[in-house]
This record gives sequence, structure tokens and C-alpha cells, in this order.
Amino acid sequence: MYPDQDFEQLTREPPSSASRSPEQVLHEVFGYESFRLLQGEIVQEVVNGGDALVLMPTGGGKSLCYQVPALVRPGTAIVISPLIALMQDQVAALRELGVRAAFLNSTMDYEQARATEYALMTGELDLLYCAPERLIQPRTIDLLHNASLSLFAIDEAHCVSQWGHDFRSDYLQLSMLAQEFPGIPRIALTATADERTRKEIAERLSLTTARHFVSGFDRPNIQYRITPKTNANKQLLDFIKAEHEGDCGIVYCLSRNKVDATARMLADKGYTALPYHAGLDATARARHQERFLREDGVIIVATIAFGMGIDKPDVRFVAHLDLPKSLEAYYQETGRAGRDGKPSTAWMVYGLQDVIKLRQMLEASQGNDQFKRVERQKLDAMLGLCEVTRCRRQVLLRYFGDELEQPCGNCDTCLTPPETWDGTVAVQKALSCVYRTGQRFGVNYLIDVLRGSENERILQSGHQAISTYGIGTELSANEWKSVFRQLVANGYLRADPESYGALQLTEQCRPLLKGEQAIELRKDPVAKKSSSPRSAGKRSGPAIREQITDQAGWDALRACRKELADKQGVPPYVIFHDTTLFDMLERRPETLEQLAEVSGVGAAKLEKYGEVFLQTLREIAQS
Ligand code: ADP
Ligand code: ZN
Repeated sequence: MYPDQDFEQLTREPPSSASRSPEQVLHEVFGYESFRLLQGEIVQEVVNGGDALVLMPTGGGKSLCYQVPALVRPGTAIVISPLIALMQDQVAALRELGVRAAFLNSTMDYEQARATEYALMTGELDLLYCAPERLIQPRTIDLLHNASLSLFAIDEAHCVSQWGHDFRSDYLQLSMLAQEFPGIPRIALTATADERTRKEIAERLSLTTARHFVSGFDRPNIQYRITPKTNANKQLLDFIKAEHEGDCGIVYCLSRNKVDATARMLADKGYTALPYHAGLDATARARHQERFLREDGVIIVATIAFGMGIDKPDVRFVAHLDLPKSLEAYYQETGRAGRDGKPSTAWMVYGLQDVIKLRQMLEASQGNDQFKRVERQKLDAMLGLCEVTRCRRQVLLRYFGDELEQPCGNCDTCLTPPETWDGTVAVQKALSCVYRTGQRFGVNYLIDVLRGSENERILQSGHQAISTYGIGTELSANEWKSVFRQLVANGYLRADPESYGALQLTEQCRPLLKGEQAIELRKDPVAKKSSSPRSAGKRSGPAIREQITDQAGWDALRACRKELADKQGVPPYVIFHDTTLFDMLERRPETLEQLAEVSGVGAAKLEKYGEVFLQTLREIAQS
């Protein structure tokens, strides 16, 4: 899958000189103009030998925070990363930049591991990526004691937290790095950590004196949209067709069956859609992930099993066909869109059945009461985001302790503010219908009773005789569904854990039922065909695809990149990102010096690919 780690080639690279400044490294090696967000400060702290705890959203640019110091400080940086695929991608990308990087993990045979260890001992590595289980072996620790080290970087540091969803016991042992290597700076990085988890990370990794760097969580280029579910497949197709034709994206579903069915449905419509879930064998999973990384326009349909460590920069949309269990999960999954900072969409459909299903799964789960209470709060927060009539981004960010002063202008509720209506009377009718039918029925039956349907079940049960029969003809079945969904989402009704789908009253609904409390409900927007709020987005410019004026030129540059990528067995973005190709097409450099000015073109890539791309650009100019 990846080219052998070829040390002959490595040793020919010039050794990194300790005298370069962080800015020089950023410019010469990575080809970037300036540091982003807190990167500059973090880099300085680590270069000076301090410890750091870095909290930055996905796509914020965490890698540079340790990669730059690794090239500025003498010795080898040890990067602890739990994800082997990600480690291999990062090493491949660094080598493309001419950086002397290698990894140690369980995929290598004895010979390869020995060669890497030898390179470490002889000071031929700038960075060594290492899986945690490998690092904590006494043999590896001995080895590190005999090498010259510049720093330790602990990626995905939240894996040390037992509360989190990615807990890894190997991470707990990483605290020994503080005692074993007291003079070596350590930097821990994560994208998901609330205040409590952050404290836990600092304690468990013995980073108590580390400076904390917390970057805002906002991802302004992601447009958040949540729509009531009517016909999920059709809604998904309409969405992709209207806004993301030919784009690469991820579709999340809760169950394996649904993943398979959705992938088939998309494939039938001519999309390159591949399933990904734990039920597929490892080779199929690896193959699908590979294709997603390497080909253009692939859609992955996946359970949550997919995604951790996918750092493909140009994922243009993340679609949820089922509701995630928490805002943490939602934020992490949607965060895989748009890491390159270009406009992207986080799109979700959700309906009453989702709410009922998740509530029931939670109540039926094994955990103790305290666990369930925490989970319940998380689900409530997720449902709160779905039903909110204000800016979604403000709600999302507040949950993570971030404050956004103004409504964002780039979420569906900002772009098309939902109307509300006085639902007091409708809600009374709905709740008393639940009560009078004995709290034993699901929503469809209840709606039939309210609307005075004459179906078999009702006639047999005698419910046409009760006082709520036929009192709700003013609303359509869909409108009633929306009422019930909001009642369940807001905790006035709950799904009976014993019988599937039966709705029961909760304590909370008493004042509503008695008419002592008024309630405003969200009016679900009626889906209009091909109404894309995208164009109204004001916080980020239009997508790259929409900005391209020279399609033939763009295609030629991408073809050139693909050929180079295939030759080396790496994903295209390892050669150059879309943003770099775009910049090239805009600036039309004619010389190597001009090409070096393009964002993302560092010295090594200039040398390796400069001529090839200049040639392609000349051909574009002539055609
Ligand atoms: P994270 O690990 O925080 O999710 P990455 O380190 O993968 O993010 O960076 C996300 C993207 O942003 C990458 O494509 C990276 O090359 C780019 N990037 C990071 N820092 C800069 C910078 N200072 N200038 C330009 N691009 C940057
Ligand atoms: Zn908004």
C-alpha cells in the first residue's frame, strides 16, 4: 500500500539544520505564507522547550504545531499516534516535502523495524511516528534513551480520557514519558475535549505545567443544515444533485443494513458510492478507504466506524441519514468536511422515529443510572440543536464553551429562519389523545385517532368513541408528526422502553395538559425543489468548483497530479491540495520562482514536481 521506507533515499536529503527559524521552515518546507490561529505561539513554546496542551478544531492545523518544532530543534521528534493508516499518510506526506520521517508500528516486519530503529539511532530522522502500544514497550524506551530526541507529540490526546468515546488504555501509560525523559518537551493535541476532559488529559499525561492553547471551535466554512425527514433517499439524492454533484463526501447511517442499501441506491443513480462498516472484511474496508482517499468524487456510506483519522482535506459534504447520539459525535463527524477551509455542507435529515429509536436504545442500554443520565443529557442537547429556531452554530459552539456574538449567517436557520406557531391547543389535543388511548400506542395510530380515521384497528378498539377522536382534522398527518416529534424531543412524551414506539406522558407535560402553559412550535419548512441556501452563504466564498473559469486547465492539472500520485502510490492531495492547484491556475506561473510563490509549494515539491507542472501549465496556455 505504501512504498517501502527507503532509507537510502532519506540519507541523501540534506540534514535539517538547527539554525532555521520556524517561519523559514514554514515557508521553505511547507510552502505556506504564515502561521494560522495559535500555531505561531504554540510552535514558539515548544521550540523553547516548553510543554503544551493544544485544543484545536479538526482542520485547524494541529500537525504543523509539532512538525515545525521538529524541524527547528535538533534531534528526532517522536509522534505518538493511535491510527496506523493516518500515521502512514502523514509520513508519506512529509516525505513528499523532503522531511526525513518514518514510522514504527505493527504493520512492519522485523527487517523494516530494525532499519527504522537504526535510522533513529544514527540521527537520520526528523520525525518518527509510533503507535502507543509500541512506544510503551521497554525495548522501545531503551532505544529512545539512546537516541537524541527533540520532542514528544501526543496526537489524539483525548484517547487518555475514560469518559470519552475513544479511550485507549495504552495512552494511560504515556505519563511515564515525564519521568523517563524529563528534559524533552511534550505537546499533546486533540480536537475534542471539553473543560473536564482537558483537565483529565493534563493530569493523566503529567502535563500539569503545560501551557494550554485553546483555539475557537468555529468552522465557518461548514454550512450546518438539519431538515425534517420525509423521504430520506430522495432528499439525499436531491441534495447531492443540487449542490455536490461530482464532489467527495461521507454519508453516515446507524446500521450496517442501511449503509449497504444506501450505497447501492446511490450507485444505481450513477454515483461512485462505497459502503464501510465493521461487518465488511478488513480488505474490503481498506480498499474502500483507499479509493475514497485516492479517487476524485467518491462517496463513502458508513457507520460511525469510519472516519477517525481520515484527514482528507477536500471532503465537501457530510450527510447524516440518522441522528448521532450526541453533539460531540455530530461535531466530530461533520468536522470531517472542509478541512481545507473551503465551503462545505453538513447536512442531516431527522424525524420522529430517530428520536424514539435513540431514546429507546439509551434506556435499554446496560449502563448504570449515572451513565444513563449523562447520555440522556447528551441526547437532549443533540435534539435541542435539531429543534432550535435560532442560529444553529451559536447553539453548537455554546455547547463547547465558545461564544459566537452574532448569528452566523451560514446555517439553515440563519438563511431561512423557521417560522413558529402557537401550538398550545394542538399540543393539548395530542397529549390528551395519548392519555385517553391508554399510553399504549405509537404515533401513527394516535394521528389516525386525532384525524378521525376509520381504519380497522380503531374500530376494533372502540377508540372512535373517545373524546379526542376526530378533533385534529385541522392539521395534516405530517404536521401532527412534527408536533409529536417536538413533544418527544423536548421531553413531554417518552417512548415506552417495553413496547416499541408506544408514547407515554412524562411529569413535565402536566401544565401543558392542564392548559396552564403555552407552547411555541417550530413550523417545519415545506421542501421546495432545488432551493439551495448555499448561494446565500455570506461567511465563506463560493466552492472551488464554482470559482473555476478554466475547466480544461483545472482538469489538466488534476490529471497531472493523479498521474504523479498513482506512480508513487499516494493519495493525490499528498502531491498538492486542491487549493494549491487552484492557486496555480489563478497565478499561471511560468518560472520555478513564480511557482514557488504558490501556496503549498515548498522547496522539495518545487524540485520534484515544478517542471512537470510548469509543462502542464504551458500546455494549458497553448490549447
Ligand atoms: P488538524 O490535524 O488540526 O485536523 P491538519 O494539521 O491536518 O489539521 O491541517 C489541516 C489543513 O490545513 C492541512 O491541509 C494543512 O496543510 C493546512 N494548513 C495548516 N496550517 C496551515 C498554514 N499555516 N497555512 C496554510 N495551510 C495550513
Ligand atoms: Zn447560523
